[in-house]
Parts: sequence; C-alpha cells; structure tokens
Amino acid sequence: MRKLLVANRGEIAARIIRTARRMGIRTCLVVHPADRSSVAREAADELAELQGDPAVSAYLDAQQIIRLAIDRNCDAIHPGYGFLSENAGFARDVENAGIVWIGPPADVIALMGDKVEARRFAQEHGVPLVPSIQEADRQLMMEQVDVIGFPLLVKAVAGGGGKGMRIVRDREGVEGAIEQAKREALRYFGDDRVYIERYIEQPRHIEVQVFADRHGNVVHLGERECSIQRRFQKLIEESPSAAINPELRSAMCEAAVKLARASGYRNAGTVEFILGKDGRFYFIEMNTRLQVEHPVTELVSGLDLVEWQLRVAFGERLSAAVMDARIAGHAIECRINVEDAASGFLPDTGQIVRYRAPEGEGIRIDSGVQELDHVTDAFDPMVAKLIVWGRDRDCAIRTAEAALGQFCVLGVETNIAYLRAILRHPDYVAGAIDTGFLENCHDGLLSAMVSDGGLDPDVAAAFVALSIRETQREIPALAALGAWKN
Ligand code: ADP
Ligand code: ADP
Ligand code: MG
Repeated sequence: MRKLLVANRGEIAARIIRTARRMGIRTCLVVHPADRSSVAREAADELAELQGDPAVSAYLDAQQIIRLAIDRNCDAIHPGYGFLSENAGFARDVENAGIVWIGPPADVIALMGDKVEARRFAQEHGVPLVPSIQEADRQLMMEQVDVIGFPLLVKAVAGGGGKGMRIVRDREGVEGAIEQAKREALRYFGDDRVYIERYIEQPRHIEVQVFADRHGNVVHLGERECSIQRRFQKLIEESPSAAINPELRSAMCEAAVKLARASGYRNAGTVEFILGKDGRFYFIEMNTRLQVEHPVTELVSGLDLVEWQLRVAFGERLSAAVMDARIAGHAIECRINVEDAASGFLPDTGQIVRYRAPEGEGIRIDSGVQELDHVTDAFDPMVAKLIVWGRDRDCAIRTAEAALGQFCVLGVETNIAYLRAILRHPDYVAGAIDTGFLENCHDGLLSAMVSDGGLDPDVAAAFVALSIRETQREIPALAALGAWKN
C-alpha cells in the first residue's frame, strides 16, 4: 500500500495517520473547512477538501469521498468509527471502485447493522440473547410484552451511539416509548424500525475484541469493561474487566469468536454483551469497525490494532504475535469531552487557549486538538482520550487519576474534573460498577468534582503565571481557571 485515504476527522483520524506513517504509508485526509481541529490536519501528508453543508453531511457523502480517493490515487480507505464506518453500501462502492476497504466485508456490515437480523444470526449460532419481541403487530406486541415482563428496552433496529433507546417500566408506557423511539430512530438513522428487549437490571457492559484475516484465522484479544456510561454512551473503559473470572471470560470470548467465524468476518470487530448480576451474559450487538475504546486493548496486548487492520485488509495472515497475544496489566481509557458537566453536560464551543496534556510512563494521549484550536458544535464533543496502563487495576486508576489532574484545557469547558471524580469514587475504585453507576452517583460526583476533582493546585498556579505573562492575548482562561482551582 502506498497511500491511504482517511475518511474521518478528529482524534481517530490523527491516530490512524500515526500508524500509517510508522508503516511508511502516505496519508490523504478528507477535511471540511468547518473542522478547525488541527492535529490530524497537520499530521496528514495530503489534505482533500470536502464540500457540503452541514459539515457532517460532507463526511457522510460516500460518493464525494470515493471520488476524492480516486483523484488522489489512494489504494485504500480507512473509515475510522462513526460516519461511514458501518455503511455497507459505502464499503461495497469502495471495493467496486478498486480501492481496498479497511474493514469487514460489506455483507457482514449489513447483517450486523440490522440488529434484528444480527440477533437472529447470533441465535442460530447458539449465542445467548436477551428475550425480545420483534413483531410489528401492535396487538401481538402487547401480548408478548406481558410474557417477557418489565422493565423493557425499546431499541432502534438501525441504532448506534446509544441513540433511539427507551426504558419502559410498565404496560402504560409501552406505546409512548415506541412512538418516541421511532421518532428518534428516524431522525438519527433514517429508519424508524424498533424492537423490544428485556431490560437487564444493573448490568455490566462487557465486549470482546475480535480479529480475523482472509485465511480463516479468527482470534479474540480479550474483553473490555464499558459499564461507565451516560445515556447509553461509554465514558470510561478498561481492560480486562474486574468482574469476570477466567471461565466466564473464555465463555464470552469463545461466543464472540464463534459469531465472527460464522459470519465470515474479516478485520477488527467487537461483540458486545450485557452481563447480568447473576453472571449470565447476553449478546446485544456487533460493531463492525474499530471501536473508540480500542486503545485499552492495545495497551494490554501490546498490539497496534490499526496496523493489523491495514495488514489484514491487504491479505496478510494474522501473525503469531496476534494469534497468541497475551494480556498483561490493566488499561483504562477516559473520553475527554468538551462539555459542561456542571450544567447538564451541554457541549461547549470556543477556542482552546491553553492545552497541556499529561505525559509520563504508562500515559497515552490520543487527541484531535491542540492549543489555539477552535471547537465547534458541528461535530462530536469528544476531542481527546487519555489512556493509561498500570501493572494492575489500582495502579492504572492511580495513574489515570493523577494524569487527569495534570491535564489542562482552558477556554472551553471539559469533563476532565468529572472524569477525575469518577476515578476517585469508592465504588469505582472497588470495581462495584454497573451501567447505572453514573446516574445513581450523579449528585455525589458533581459535588466531588467541585470540591476536589479539578486541576492540581500546582499545575493551576503554573498556568495562572503563564497566562499573566501573555499580555497580547485576550484570556478568558483566567476566568475558567476559577472552576479548576476550587
Ligand atoms: P463505541 O463503542 O465505539 O463508542 P458507539 O456506538 O458509541 O461505539 O459509536 C462510536 C462513535 O460513533 C461515537 O462517537 C458516536 O457518536 C458515533 N456514532 C455511532 N453511530 C453513529 C451513527 N449512526 N451516525 C453518526 N455517528 C454515530
Ligand atoms: P448502540 O448500538 O447504541 O451501542 P447497544 O445495543 O450496544 O446500542 O446498547 C447500548 C447500551 O445500552 C449498552 O451498552 C447497555 O448499557 C444498554 N443496553 C442495551 N441493551 C440492554 C439490555 N437489554 N438491558 C440492559 N441494558 C442494555
Ligand atoms: Mg453498542
């Protein structure tokens, strides 16, 4: 491969470019003028301007992106996550244009992208499922609702990113929840089909990283614990999970590999499970792409998953390093969002006037932004990830917590103090978490954040000094600093 087109933006575009460069592959990044984050832009060898309004629609414009790839003589396209990464039509068109698609075959994307079809497929292959109702008929649905029992979860067939889901606690709520979920599903996915699952109470979200090549090799690279979620969206992920023993781990990992193998999977994928308090696990979906939280797997396995995505897409066999990968130590990822935790997690916008990421042993930063970048509301509020490695979970938590205290982003509100409050919470430290943790601990986390969750005092003082010396620039940062100090 000589040249790779990166059909994404932000931190994941920068992360893909990093690996391509190390492998001696040239990169061409598609970029919309409204995207004012600079790390990926500066890292790419070439830029190809995307046109369209709103900006997000340009990153979803499959034909425009394929045209750019052809014009620029790219051999392959990496879609990252989000945007077109799980669009089977795009994958097919890319291959039909004679360009290598860095991902699984289009028909597997289509199969897993329809959650009802994916469930049917998993069931056929003996993978455990949450009881569900798929009938469109309302009358029949209401009868089955009573059989399954409450609470229930209404989900979008085409869902992703935690959108289009509604919990229903009683019979009276069913119709309304279906209507709401349908509206949201239509708005987000252009597809209003929904189905109903039993809502497993106080579960953990545990997912398995799988990898497959074109030669029949399918492996798993262990699990990730993703139970720290807000509104069904992951915020902190770790590997391995503190909740599962070796038997449960092999059962889940084997189920994931079985599903991948049966579907004719290739490249990187993730099989997501819900783990009940009783130790039973259930398949919920398969994500046919690189996952946001893939770095925790990289830190415990020592593998570069993007490198293997590229190798496998070009026909290489998974090597012994992948087939026999050993998981060592513990890794934690924190998603850094530009949002105001104190006022309902509303996304913030503006210029980053100060940006200093922590450095040190065991610390990795995957960022899309740097100092003086502008953050707009045109894109996802996640701008960076802090990923740490430690000998064990306690070490990793301590490293992550300290690193967040050294992470300075001024000019826009971020969730850094909130993340730090989570890492300090006794239940988190004890590993006593489920997907309801953030909601249940909401008030405690917010007050902990205000009292001691922010920037370390010495780091704050250093930045006050720095900011005062900068007389040329207007510095809203000083006002922002108040929130960090107290
Ligand atoms: P992950 O487990 O990798 O976080 P998510 O389902 O949360 O998986 O999605 C990853 C990213 O892709 C998130 O930033 C999310 O906002 C975005 N995303 C997911 N599905 C869609 C979609 N259908 N359209 C646009 N963005 C999406
Ligand atoms: P998405 O495609 O949006 O990622 P998922 O099916 O993966 O949708 O579900 C997202 C999250 O919703 C899960 O991580 C989990 O926290 C919760 N969830 C999904 N299904 C169930 C269920 N049956 N019971 C309890 N929680 C669930
Ligand atoms: Mg999911």
